[in-house]
Amino acid sequence: MTASIFSLGKNARSNNAGKDSIVEGGSRPCESKRQGLILVASLVGKVPNLAGLTRTCEVFRAAALAVSDMRITKDPLFSSISVTAEQWMPLLEVPEADLGHWMVQKRAEGYRLIGVEQTAGSTLLPEFAFPSKSVLLLGREREGIPLELLQLLDHTVEIPQLGVIRSLNVHVSGAIALYEYSRQQHAQQQAKLS
Ligand code: SAH
Repeated sequence: MTASIFSLGKNARSNNAGKDSIVEGGSRPCESKRQGLILVASLVGKVPNLAGLTRTCEVFRAAALAVSDMRITKDPLFSSISVTAEQWMPLLEVPEADLGHWMVQKRAEGYRLIGVEQTAGSTLLPEFAFPSKSVLLLGREREGIPLELLQLLDHTVEIPQLGVIRSLNVHVSGAIALYEYSRQQHAQQQAKLS
């Protein structure tokens, strides 16, 4: 069975030196294949959010995380939150000014461009079927995704909310979306096997 966050119990997770292990970026073996999702955090500005997203991406074996400036990983606050995730996670530097061009290029490579955002046209996350090659764009902490980038997207997905506060924190939003993507991918793999 493919190793996965959804199928490994506590004991299995600690036993990561199995025969099929892939050694990546150092001596730590990793059992599972990278997923097809690239998370884009180039609009995210705050160090705790970026460090948290790096950790979440590592935990879910995202294909890559795009940030606007790689130097952020040298910040001691970043390290204290990321707990070495940047050493295991492929990080891409995509400055905000290049984001539109970069996203269009990714679409040409077969990715669907998906914004995680509250818009009038958004699909609710539980109703959205993620393509395996997904580029997931997160918005700025205060202003969200700017109009010119929203116009480039194939879809926008929204996490349903029940409370009075207008929006979720951007790292929390990215984590929920990444979890849902991973859950769907795992369900598809299981369906293929049965
Ligand atoms: N647009 C928000 C502020 C941005 S919140 C407002 O008007 O108050 C920062 C980012 O978190 C958003 O751009 C989006 O990427 C994500 N986000 C927050 N809440 C969300 C939700 N309920 N669904 C989808 N994304 C959300």
